[in-house]
Amino acid sequence: MGLLMKTCIHCQQSKPLEAFRKSARMIGGRENGCKDCHNARRRARYQTDPSATLATNRKWFQANREKLNAYHREWRSRLDVNRRTAKRRTEIEGLADSYVKQLLAGGVLSHSDIPQPLVEAQRELLKIKRYIREHSI
Ligand SMILES: [Zn+2]
Repeated sequence: MGLLMKTCIHCQQSKPLEAFRKSARMIGGRENGCKDCHNARRRARYQTDPSATLATNRKWFQANREKLNAYHREWRSRLDVNRRTAKRRTEIEGLADSYVKQLLAGGVLSHSDIPQPLVEAQRELLKIKRYIREHSI
């Protein structure tokens, strides 16, 4: 419970400040109606006149299109990074050819120059090293 209380102009209940939506245009930085009342009124408005709500929403999307697109681009790029990280982790844990070849190449050889039997041998060596590490031998 917040220390600061405010009385809702709709339900007349005294509620903590957090129960009121933030608003830059209101004195005190909060709406006069509580969130519960705001939501109930928005729901009722939509029930009686959906086109008004839809028009408001459409106007907001048009006004904030670029901001929203930028947010979605940022979100997608973070998702891509997370996917690449997860894929790499899977390759390392599963000792995939790409990972084993990278260790063998050491930044000098091309991955296609590494013979497959060498990759297999390196993979077995890595398994042994992991076993020793995990069993503290
Ligand atoms: Zn209220």
